[in-house]
Amino acid sequence: MALKYTNKINKIRTFALSLVFVGILVMYIGIFFRESYIIMTLAMLLGFLFIIGSTVVYFWIGMLSTKTIQVVCPTCGGATKMLGRVDACMHCSEPLTMDKSLEGKEFDEDYNRKSKK
Ligand SMILES: [Zn+2]
Repeated sequence: MALKYTNKINKIRTFALSLVFVGILVMYIGIFFRESYIIMTLAMLLGFLFIIGSTVVYFWIGMLSTKTIQVVCPTCGGATKMLGRVDACMHCSEPLTMDKSLEGKEFDEDYNRKSKK
């Protein structure tokens, strides 16, 4: 396989986690500007915003999770959560589809967008 697909839920979770780290990093950098009260406050505020943002993303994952369908991956046999018509397995990144007409076709994220119309 030329391209490796990742499960959407996992992708969002990684994004939320990186937001927390960015937030902590920004706050940490703020400590180095102790002599400037304004920069330190701004850094703290910005870092706080990143962490708030990640909380929002985590909340969003929770909302999305209610829409996912649990399936058993035919390749690795593990249970995975699917979002949309096409998604990749959480464990082995095997492309999976809910739509029989898309079976055997090239994996394309666009199928999810089309289904919304
Ligand atoms: Zn799998």
